[in-house]
Amino acid sequence: MYQLKRKEYINENLFKIFFDKSDLNFIPGQHFSLSIPDKSINREYSSYTSVNDKEIGFLVKRVEGGIMTNILNEMSVGDSLNIYGPYGSFILNEEQISEKQIIFIASGTGLAPFVSIKESYNLKKYKLFLGIRYASDIPDADKFEQSNCFYSISRESNLIQNNYYKGRLTEQLQKIEYINDYENSIYMICGNSYMISDAYDILVNEKNIDPNLVITESFF
Ligand SMILES: Cc1cc2nc3c(=O)[nH]c(=O)nc-3n(C[C@H](O)[C@H](O)[C@H](O)COP(=O)(O)OP(=O)(O)OC[C@H]3O[C@@H](n4cnc5c(N)ncnc54)[C@H](O)[C@@H]3O)c2cc1C
Repeated sequence: MYQLKRKEYINENLFKIFFDKSDLNFIPGQHFSLSIPDKSINREYSSYTSVNDKEIGFLVKRVEGGIMTNILNEMSVGDSLNIYGPYGSFILNEEQISEKQIIFIASGTGLAPFVSIKESYNLKKYKLFLGIRYASDIPDADKFEQSNCFYSISRESNLIQNNYYKGRLTEQLQKIEYINDYENSIYMICGNSYMISDAYDILVNEKNIDPNLVITESFF
């Protein structure tokens, strides 16, 4: 069992939970299964933190009517849960890390594995496309070089930064030719399955990117 060490709210529906890492080793991009003792409820969460941190953290969006996210929202520091894993192959190999530009494409909390990957490998050659509803849904923007980031914000008109775009993530992806070296890149797409399918379609079918260069992880 792992005790909740701290909890940080980004807004009322988006928060981070942290545990002592102890024996929870993982490859950046992998996820864990969080399970509530005696309730036979478990859900997957990608590691949000670097492999070099002493803590392991998860980024959670509270889903209206959702079972696990509302339990996690109610959890207090000192409460315990089970953490199993790591699982998954949403990871990069050594050659990709050292030689390729990594294009991160995420909707919502699909950002989580990308923060872990970027921080763990101290990546410099990357771009981030993030789709969110409001600017306040962007967690830890300071972890990314802002000139590398493109935020597609669907429900806000007051776009205060020049990398904030009104509209859907997929509209922004249509312009990917403007990214230097976009042909010598690896594309990691994470988030909801509709966005993944649309983004994959744009990259592979419209932009003719080799499907072997595109890796995906669906959250729901
Ligand atoms: C490999 C993997 C990694 C994941 N990593 C994360 C992560 O890092 N952070 C995270 O918040 N979630 C992550 N998820 C999703 C997570 O496992 C849960 O599905 C999610 O938190 C909802 O759980 P719940 O019990 O509250 O909702 P449930 O009671 O299971 O479901 C309620 C409904 O909400 C929908 N739903 C699920 N997630 C969302 C969402 N984010 N926004 C809107 N609707 C949603 C479901 O499709 C379902 O219809 C991951 C899923 C997978 C498969």
